[in-house]
Amino acid sequence: MGGAEFGFELRVCAWAERHWTPADPDSCVLVARQLGTQRRRWDTVLVEADPAGLRARAAFGPEELDADLLDVVRHAPADWTYYRDALPDPGYPWRYVREAIHRASARGVLDERKRSNRIEIRRIAPYPDWVRRIVAVENKPDLDASAARALADQLERDVALGLADEVWVATRADATRALVTEMPSAAGVLTVGTPDDTDGDRTDATHERDSLSVDVAWHPRSLDPDATGVRVTDHGDPTTFEYAPAAEKRETRARIAERAYGRGWRAYADTMRPDCRAFDLRNAADGSVPYCHAKGREQTAAECSGSCADFAPEPPGWRQRGWPIEGGPGTAVKRLLAERRRRRRPGLSERDDDT
Ligand code: SF4
Repeated sequence: MGGAEFGFELRVCAWAERHWTPADPDSCVLVARQLGTQRRRWDTVLVEADPAGLRARAAFGPEELDADLLDVVRHAPADWTYYRDALPDPGYPWRYVREAIHRASARGVLDERKRSNRIEIRRIAPYPDWVRRIVAVENKPDLDASAARALADQLERDVALGLADEVWVATRADATRALVTEMPSAAGVLTVGTPDDTDGDRTDATHERDSLSVDVAWHPRSLDPDATGVRVTDHGDPTTFEYAPAAEKRETRARIAERAYGRGWRAYADTMRPDCRAFDLRNAADGSVPYCHAKGREQTAAECSGSCADFAPEPPGWRQRGWPIEGGPGTAVKRLLAERRRRRRPGLSERDDDT
């Protein structure tokens, strides 16, 4: 992903977090990026969540529950029960379930005890039904003819599978109408104006920038995640496909939503190097984006690593003397982003920022 694409994606995420209109007006919107399945990864994922359910989800902490933990947590009973009586037959050896139980218990998302040499489990809280809708957005700032063809093919597959409730493509406002109309009619099109909206201020400045100008060029059709989907396995001649049962899609959606909950869209700080002297966050419309003073531009997540030729670590003294708050600028950036992620997840405590 190029620098322009990365910056575009972060701006779309920031815009969506503030301005996305969910189908149900009282839904909360969680935004994450680079999520999906083994076969397909979406650039931006919006989860429209039931507010009470989202708050109840916080009982399970800020980290995502993977598929195994989710299985255990959702079926855990209110009262102590032998685990094999409480959980459905997994269809694979029970020892893997026991491992998941131990992990869940260590994470504090399940109670576990041993009675007469038997493992008993009890839930810490009911796992809520918090996901109302999932919206997938593909970010393509530069939509030339060949990118448009590849994207149209990809979106057709998304529509046929119907894993998300809606699929969209976000592109620059100057994308030509001819290219936009190549997209499948069931996919929505957002056109995004991207002014040069960085001004060099660090994000700890509290003022806000004007919003991105985003217009709907084409409304999507609502897909049906509760229906059997069609997974295109080869778009050759003939096209081959397989069916994706509704139950399988439901499980996949639950896992995607969990990942979105755990990661959000600011998780780039976990893989980039905010502890480099050249790293900065700059105000952009609706949010903030990483900026590299050494390169004099916005850097990509891939190039901002310890192997970057310009990497210059913070002097140890910055961290030891608690500069300027505690832990140096790199830690401060991570803390700032974690705090913003937490704000979108009501019910989590401040302690959860550090995880
Ligand atoms: S110099 Fe390299 S490591 Fe440092 S902020 Fe810039 S891209 Fe990241």
